[in-house]
Parts: sequence; structure tokens; C-alpha cells
Amino acid sequence: MNYKNYINGKWVKTGKTFASTNPATGELVGKCCEAGPREVAMAVKSARKAFAGWRLTPAPKRAEYLLRLGQLFEQRKNELSRIVTQEMGKVLKEGAGDVQESIDITYYMAGEGRRLFGHNVPSELANKFAMAVREPVGVCALITPWNFPTAIPCWKMMPALVLGNTVVLKPASDTSVSAAKVIQLMDEVGFPPGVVNFVMGPGEKTGNVLIKDPDVDLISFTGSTVVGRKIATTATSLGKRVSLEMGGKNAIIVMDDGDLDLATDAILWAAFGTTGQRCTACSRVLVHHRVKSKLVSKLLERAKKLRLGDGLNPKTDVGPVINAGQLARIHRYVKIGPREGAKLLCGGRIRSDGDYKKGYFYEPTIFDNVKPKMCIAQEEIFGPVVAIISVKDLDEAIRVNNDTAYGLSSSIFTRDVNKAYRAMRDITTGIVYVNAGTTGAEVQLPFGGTRGTGNGHREAGQAAIDSFSEWKTIYVDYSGKVQRAQIDNYDS
Ligand code: NAD
Repeated sequence: MNYKNYINGKWVKTGKTFASTNPATGELVGKCCEAGPREVAMAVKSARKAFAGWRLTPAPKRAEYLLRLGQLFEQRKNELSRIVTQEMGKVLKEGAGDVQESIDITYYMAGEGRRLFGHNVPSELANKFAMAVREPVGVCALITPWNFPTAIPCWKMMPALVLGNTVVLKPASDTSVSAAKVIQLMDEVGFPPGVVNFVMGPGEKTGNVLIKDPDVDLISFTGSTVVGRKIATTATSLGKRVSLEMGGKNAIIVMDDGDLDLATDAILWAAFGTTGQRCTACSRVLVHHRVKSKLVSKLLERAKKLRLGDGLNPKTDVGPVINAGQLARIHRYVKIGPREGAKLLCGGRIRSDGDYKKGYFYEPTIFDNVKPKMCIAQEEIFGPVVAIISVKDLDEAIRVNNDTAYGLSSSIFTRDVNKAYRAMRDITTGIVYVNAGTTGAEVQLPFGGTRGTGNGHREAGQAAIDSFSEWKTIYVDYSGKVQRAQIDNYDS
């Protein structure tokens, strides 16, 4: 099946195509038309043109398109979930979770169509009215990664659209088919031509042309820190607004009073769910030295039983990694671990035997005796690899937790409410969980992180409304005279 770009309400074919394949089997998922500079320019131009009408469409009416889209998503959830699993590799339950997140954000933002609250505050002057209202920014270029193929595009498109912006989405090449399926549903809903546009192709080509287009006002990027910073440098120099959601090096803290069985369940899910390819995945466990050996033996016993395989097989616990490049990168990091003094407890191997022959499979891997400054404890590996670090108390745990270049998600297992509150106060990541793993964001709350993870913006919840809008402050003076703020009401 060939998938096309979507420009001004029409499917646009190009001569050059690239293949999207199943990372578990190597089978073709679809052929995608690569958008060149011409198609990118057409997409941005049509978004610019459509902006004039869409920004004036009442927000509750804009929201009705989202509501219908949410209903379509629900009807097609099973079909979409399978595509996500086939193309990205995550197990089917998680594929369904990806689509459910798309449904959730679509309905949430549909509800915003009748809110989009501004401020209405008293003026200091008599007979004067003061308020601040939200305005759309304009044409938004949305650049997304492969690990949440439907959810992340929706996390960006829905707030942008309900606010009256128009969009050009460029998904990761590895998961362009899943994104194309979302756009097909948006086409079915019948958004006015040009409001939603879709271009596929490599980041350095298609993406790079898109972010530089003079008619793009805002760039919303989710992906690696290296690419995000490069995009921000270029875009900022061109005077564009940029929001970035980037890497993570997330930790679960386990105190000596924590529930070790619960912590074990949570670590396994947060570290090896989605094959460790979540920006919030747990890649470090900071465990109190008194309970370390107990926790490690529980983890090891369970990790060894995890079944690696095709995500479509209901017996699979851990699916493949996304591509050959990512597989090689994970293995490179794993080889560094022992050289730095870490002890490999399990995993550490690429699997290419039997059923694994045609896919990209990596065994769930646990390192012990990891020190906080080691490379495997500092850099984002983005695979099923977790590092165990021993800590002597809560202060050290929090210090180590905060001491990386990233600041996305953290978690603490403790039964002591005082320790939980100290951790909630002193942890410096954007997301903190208490007695739960590092993953599991809900769409009604802000999502994002500090340091190398972001640039101060957040996705989802009310924070996303801020990311995709401008404030306009309006004063209406009905006194019939010139009233000077800060002067006329005060004796000099
Ligand atoms: P990536 O940075 O390689 O690519 C992300 C997107 O940027 C892709 O669409 C890619 O084509 C595009 N791109 C690449 N170079 C570009 C350029 N020069 N100009 C314009 N666009 C360009 O990331 P990835 O490998 O797709 O995803 C994995 C990364 O995403 C991890 O670092 C992960 O932590 C991060 N991530 C972060 C979050 C978050 O919310 N913080 C969520 C999911 C993933």
C-alpha cells in the first residue's frame, strides 16, 4: 500500500518513496511518498491560506471536528492499534494504549473549545475594562518521533487546531504509516482544506526544509536532544517560536522502607515496557544499600522470564527495537558498561536466532555496581537497559537522581510520607511519581521536563494551550477621557 502526503485537503503523490517495515519481521508495512522542497512549500502555503478562515471559525465549532475525530478513533481503535504494533513494534496492548492516548487528548481538547479561558481582571482606573484573550500563533510545523506514532502527533495537533492554528505534521520516517492513518481519519472528518497538512520524509531533508520555511510561525518538536537543539538554533535565528520535548535519563528510587514487590513490578514495566523506548522509561534504579541485594534478586528472577518477540503475539512481553541503527547503538552502550566497571547481570545480547532472525531484538539487560557518573548512568540509551546504583540515604538518592543532563521523570518507592514529600519537593524533573514507575502520563496534566529534556514548554493539559497560543491583552476605556495608568490615581 502506498501512502501519500496530504496537502490542502488532497492526497499528493511524489516520485520518490521510502519503505516502512515491521521491526519484528522485516515485512513491508507500507511505501511512503517522500515530500521534497516543493511539496513542503505547498503544504506550508496551504496552511497559511487556511489560517485566515480557521482562526475566525468559532472555537466550539473547531472543537466539533475534534469530537468527530475522537469518535472515529474509537471506532477504528483495533485497526489502528495493530498498525502501531506492526510498524513500531510495541506489544499490542501498548499499541492500543498509544491510540487510547490519541483519543484522550482529542476529546480533552474538544472540550477546550468551550473553555480556552483567558483573564478578565479589574482595571485600576474607573470606567475601564481589562482582559487578556488567547490568539492562535499561525502555521505550526509539528515534528514527531517514532516511539508514540499516533499519540505524539495528536498531542500536538489537537491543542494547535482547537486554538485556531493550522498545522503541517512531519512524522518520523520509521512510523509514517501510523501517522498517515491518523491523517486519513482527519480527512474523513472533513477539516477545511489546508487546516491539516502532512508531509513525510527524512528529518535532515523534509524536516529541515519545513522548519526554515518563512511562513512557519511555530515549531513543536519531540525527539532527541541533539536534533532538538539543532532545530532550536536554526529556528530561533529565524525568529520562530520553538517548543522542544527531548530525551530522558529517568530513575526509580527505592528506599529501604519501600514495598519491594511493588517496586519490582514497576521497574520491570518502566524499564522494559515499550522495550525501553519511552522518553520516560526507567534506565536507572537508585536503591538503598540495605535492600539492594533483595531487590536485585527479585528483578533478576523476573527479567529473565520476560518473553521477547513479535508484539502481535499475545505471549510477548518485550517487542523489538525500532531499527538496525538503534539496535547497534544499544549494544554499543552495553559494551561500554563492563569497561567502566559495571557488572552485567542479565541480557546484553542482540538476538538473531530462530524467530528473531528478521527483526531487531535485544534482551532485557540489567547492570549492577553502576556508579552515578558512568556513561550508562548518564546518557540516554533508549533501549531495554537498566542500571542499578546503590545509595546510602534519601539525600544521596535525590542528588544522584537530579545529577544528569536530562530532567524528565522520576519516581520514589517509600512508605514514609515525610520522605515522599521531601522527594516531591527536591526532585528537579518535570514529572515525579510516588509508589509508581516513571511512565504513565495522563493527558489532562502537563508533560515535559527540565534541563536537556525541554526548553520550558510543556505538552498536554492546560500547558499545551499555552504552547500553541499568544496572549492578547485588551483595555477598553469608556470614561471618555485620557486616563493615565500609574499616574492619575496617585499623588505625585
Ligand atoms: P530524532 O531526534 O532522531 O527525530 C525526531 C524527529 O525529528 C523525526 O521526525 C526526524 O525525522 C526529525 N528530524 C531529524 N533531524 C531533523 C532536522 N535536521 N530538521 C528537522 N527535523 C529533523 O528522534 P527519534 O529517534 O525519532 O526519537 C527518539 C527520541 O525522542 C529520544 O531521545 C526520546 O527521548 C525522545 N522523545 C522525547 C519525548 C518527550 O516528550 N520528551 C517523547 C518521545 C520521544
